[in-house]
Amino acid sequence: MPPHLLDHPFSELELLFKKFTGQSYRARQVCKWVFARHASSFNDMTDLPADLRKELAARFQVCSTELFAREGSHTDSTEKWTLATQDKRHFSAVLLPRKGYDSICISTQVGCAWKWGFCASGLVKFERNLTPGEILDQVLSVERIGKRKIHNVLFMGMGEPLANYPGTLGAIHWLTSPHGFGLSPARVTVSTTGLAPQILKLAGENLKVNLALSLHAPSDDLRAKIMPVSSKFEIREILEACKIYWTKNDADLTMEYILLNDVNDREAHARQLAKLLKSVFGNHLPKINLIPFNPVPALSYKTTDPAQSQFFFDLLKREKFVVHTRKPQGQDIEAACGQLL
Ligand code: SAH
Repeated sequence: MPPHLLDHPFSELELLFKKFTGQSYRARQVCKWVFARHASSFNDMTDLPADLRKELAARFQVCSTELFAREGSHTDSTEKWTLATQDKRHFSAVLLPRKGYDSICISTQVGCAWKWGFCASGLVKFERNLTPGEILDQVLSVERIGKRKIHNVLFMGMGEPLANYPGTLGAIHWLTSPHGFGLSPARVTVSTTGLAPQILKLAGENLKVNLALSLHAPSDDLRAKIMPVSSKFEIREILEACKIYWTKNDADLTMEYILLNDVNDREAHARQLAKLLKSVFGNHLPKINLIPFNPVPALSYKTTDPAQSQFFFDLLKREKFVVHTRKPQGQDIEAACGQLL
């Protein structure tokens, strides 16, 4: 099978189109069909000469995945979209509709090698990275088939975006390119388990997308217990890399902190978290996103009760942090954070 068109950045496509067709402007024309008119094959592109459509179809695919399942939550408006790759692998995106402002949470890998004790995705054996085109098919399919316009993209689905650096970078390129989705980088968030060297590398790309860190523990000891693979890098090293990212890119930085009953949600943990972040960031503090644990049947962690969550929240507020609590969505269809299989 030929590669996905969007596995190439726009500048490369222009060169390839020039080479294959003698006309680099055709790249722009094809992109219009893909992003504005939601064409899923060259055949749909009716203002291209038939010969050219044939020639292009032999060299590229406009969409390399198929919609395998689409499930809607019965309790909220969340939808889980599962796509199938040509090598018969499945991966999911979660559509989070808001009135006139739809977000999508996308996957970057099939399976996950990080195996956190509290996340269903970690139960799925790592199989492979998704290509930029496959990652983008999640957004394109929801726009085309669901007849929606996506305004906000979160790299927070299955897999570790920074462990699939070329896939993630290629996808960000098209999300923010005027020839692609044309989103402002402020509408794109990359969430990472904390690969310090890749965070630094990303900082140098100057893409200005938002960065979120799955911190989840205020000390290396506790982080090693609940996220052993992620603790390859020390918290301080990861936070210093985040700080450099934040300084170089005019973007949001968020610390994600899942509340696990009796594990990391006590008063001492909140105090330790505040102290840690202040010691690295001084007065210019990142946001904190508190995440209620979404139950996963095979895993033994418990959700923190609302009173304790509120206590944790209030303590951080008093320490002058901007704190949000993530609202669980799509739990009934296993589409909530940490439930993707
Ligand atoms: N690898 C990336 C993206 C995937 S994890 C990263 O590490 O950030 C995406 C988010 O899912 C994380 O913020 C994590 O906190 C959340 N998550 C994982 N398991 C969860 C669970 N059981 N309940 C609620 N959120 C969970």
